[in-house]
Amino acid sequence: MSATPQGYHGRFAPSPTGPLHFGSLVSALASWLDARAHGGAWLVRVEDIDGPRTVPGAAEDILATLAAFGFHADEPPEWQSRRTGLYRAALDRLIAAGHVYPCGCTRKEIADSQLRAHERHTTLIYPGTCRDGLHGKRARAWRLRVPDEATADEPEDEPAGARGNPALIRFGDRWQGPQQQNLATEVGDFVLLRADGQWAYQLAVVVDDAEQRITHVVRGADLLDSTARQIWLQQCLGVPTPAYLHVPVVTHADGEKLSKQTGAQALDASRPLEALLAAARHLGLELHDPAPATLAAFQLDAIDAWKRRLGQLPAA
Ligand code: GLU
Repeated sequence: MSATPQGYHGRFAPSPTGPLHFGSLVSALASWLDARAHGGAWLVRVEDIDGPRTVPGAAEDILATLAAFGFHADEPPEWQSRRTGLYRAALDRLIAAGHVYPCGCTRKEIADSQLRAHERHTTLIYPGTCRDGLHGKRARAWRLRVPDEATADEPEDEPAGARGNPALIRFGDRWQGPQQQNLATEVGDFVLLRADGQWAYQLAVVVDDAEQRITHVVRGADLLDSTARQIWLQQCLGVPTPAYLHVPVVTHADGEKLSKQTGAQALDASRPLEALLAAARHLGLELHDPAPATLAAFQLDAIDAWKRRLGQLPAA
């Protein structure tokens, strides 16, 4: 049971695939500022669900770095690896409701079918082969059905609120403005339990956000593309959809996203202010004091600057 009162619940959800780097510091800072600006709770969730990608010791390292940077969660951190029973229960509910089906296709089979069925797409969109049964194949993964495209008498471009295309998910992003994604043509039925037995990020994140009563998700814009899937999954599970805000990702000079995979440097926990000021600049925050003497002084200034920054964003 959570000890935090009702109201705003935000979170920072790092994957322990390496030490905290500048890109994840920006997400941590933005989510912390938004929670504090709303007088809300800020939680930390270690997303160590992807066994093969998890680096031993990285989670502890990230938690220590967050503390050194002045980020203190309002509840003890949650660890996804300790919550797999919740994911199992959610999948069982989806099975009982007929939202998911076992899939026996290999990656190669899906790639081959793509060439025939969806030549215009560069990402793999599952063609729905196992929707009506496994065709004698062995079950490998569990997939969530996405809504079918609108039929001819349900035009795609009806105004919001009207009965439109069920495959089209619309949402307002607090930073990026209005968003939409067609799950049938741009995503396809997606995996919740992988063939290697690992729970998929999409299922874990939706179950955890609901169970931790997260009202506001603030994270990097690389996850904008996952949001429609998460909203659809929330609808299938009958849980609320939080408000979303996706901050611009930090890139290398060549435009590639800064990440552990692209060689991002670990942060220097002995000099937190320097990196925090750079993260605030990345978010376009206009601080009154560009050279604060303490973390506390930076935090107060940054919370005010965040509130002003929110006022400059497009309407969601
Ligand atoms: N664990 C994800 C990451 O580090 C973030 C997930 C989320 O904020 O929804 O990229």
